[in-house]
Amino acid sequence: MLDVLIVGAGFGGLYALHKLRSQGLSALVLEAAPSVGGTWWANRYPGARVDIQSLEYSYSFSEPLQQQWHWSERYASQPELLRYASHVADRFELRRDIRLNTRVTKAHFDEAAALWRIGSDDGRHWSARFVVMAIGPLSTPNTPAFEGLESFAGPVFHSAAWPHEPVDFGGRDVAVVGTGSSAVQLIPIIAEQARTLTVFQRTAAYAVPAHNGPLDAEREARIKADYAGFRARNRRMRAGFGSELSPHPKPTLEVNAPERDAVFEQRWAIGGFSLLGAFVDTLTDMRANELCAEFVRGKIRSIVRDPAVAERLCPTHPIGCKRLCVDSGYYETYNRANVTLVDVSEHPIEHITPGGLVTGGRDHRFDTLVLATGFDAFTGPLTRIDLRGRDGLHIRDKWRGGPLNYLGLTVAGFPNLFNLVGPGSTSAFTSVVLAIEHHVDWIGECIQWLDAQGHRTIEPSSEAESQWVQRVNQIAEQTVYPHCNSWYLGANIPGKPRIFMPLAGGFPAYADRCAAVAREGYAGFVMR
Ligand code: NAP
Repeated sequence: MLDVLIVGAGFGGLYALHKLRSQGLSALVLEAAPSVGGTWWANRYPGARVDIQSLEYSYSFSEPLQQQWHWSERYASQPELLRYASHVADRFELRRDIRLNTRVTKAHFDEAAALWRIGSDDGRHWSARFVVMAIGPLSTPNTPAFEGLESFAGPVFHSAAWPHEPVDFGGRDVAVVGTGSSAVQLIPIIAEQARTLTVFQRTAAYAVPAHNGPLDAEREARIKADYAGFRARNRRMRAGFGSELSPHPKPTLEVNAPERDAVFEQRWAIGGFSLLGAFVDTLTDMRANELCAEFVRGKIRSIVRDPAVAERLCPTHPIGCKRLCVDSGYYETYNRANVTLVDVSEHPIEHITPGGLVTGGRDHRFDTLVLATGFDAFTGPLTRIDLRGRDGLHIRDKWRGGPLNYLGLTVAGFPNLFNLVGPGSTSAFTSVVLAIEHHVDWIGECIQWLDAQGHRTIEPSSEAESQWVQRVNQIAEQTVYPHCNSWYLGANIPGKPRIFMPLAGGFPAYADRCAAVAREGYAGFVMR
């Protein structure tokens, strides 16, 4: 019998193993893939890289690690992130407690024994006092049920399940469906290789330049001179990163147009998410948001030479409402003679044929299909498992109307189960590595406290849970987030309940709340 069984060996599972094992707990990680790395193992499409600067998208728990690891670029590429995960696994001797190629298919709570009984696809079984789900909120690829998809004669790739051998697009006529973060990264690269590329866009994306390049040695040295201080300052930021830049002291509408544009221009030149942090009210005031959105539309019109294509690329929803894309040459790609943009917002993809697809009654021909159609976010990874809590309650039934949870970590009826960076937490709006470290540290303390108190189980009360979900939705109502169809709302998956899932209140307030709950003897939880 284990103290803790951890599902997933991505950034979450690796740190959970290190932390909980260092507390003297017996812990084991089960990982479906043949490698550690999680998201960075699966998402290996051309151009895949992180959208938060690597000096911030990295572990802070070990000073020697953060001092010694050197990132080669501002925004690390997928292979470098995978090397980092592998280095962490070796450095902290994690591999001896990780079982690869082991997909967890079931986890049942045994009430009499107060234990979780876990089973894998190859018929093995484990029991554990606690389960940490570290399977990632974006790990279940969404393949739309396009009629005729199976009849397509050429290869079909999904951005989130990319082959491990190189794909040669040379001389191919390629179609990409989707224009989210994954598509925005892969489109410019495929366009350079393919004979023709047709992009099928349902919703235009806001993309800001990454200005990626080699990591500036002077900046790296400056941050490393006080890395702990840098991390602490980041933890006080709403997003948990970006502390080197402060927002303008005035709200957007109190600043005159030339000054406002100068601020936006400055952030555009810096690149990445910094644009959304230029003013404090971009994500909370629709009028302020529209000024920022119009600034980006102006950039699109200045980059894309064909005015009709530029207009099709201009998004109409609030900026930041869907996760902002961070790009390298995305809009410029539409100036290429071999690239065509097809708007499917009014005429959805009707069906796939052996040699292409039909939309708006028109036949589009291609021989290679790339689906960059995203994920069944937050709930998909858990509901795929035969996960049952008290009284055999299945997580699919529990979450039928939306993912009930408390503190973005726990679920009533599922004792001793912790869902890392899950719905109800700020993970989607922060650097997820920071969010992971925060959750794992909280779980570590919680288990220590339970053991010291002699409690066998902990789970939230139904009241605490419903109040938390209400709070998450009330906070979202004060922002621009409910005003578009995003994966935050489950709106990208047909039939999924439209509930705002992540917590938009900012990391510092969330961390304070989690700390207060612990200080108050785990208020809102029931211990037995
Ligand atoms: P996504 O943002 O959900 O984008 C999926 C795209 O596919 C959207 O453009 C969507 O259109 C389109 N789509 C889905 N179903 C469709 C259908 N039936 N017909 C036509 N179009 C359809 O997924 P993603 O790009 O994989 O990104 C998901 C998240 O992963 C990101 O928001 C980000 O958090 C993370 N990510 C980060 C990076 C990075 O830069 N580090 C890279 C990739 C992913 P609609 O918008 O109309 O739904």
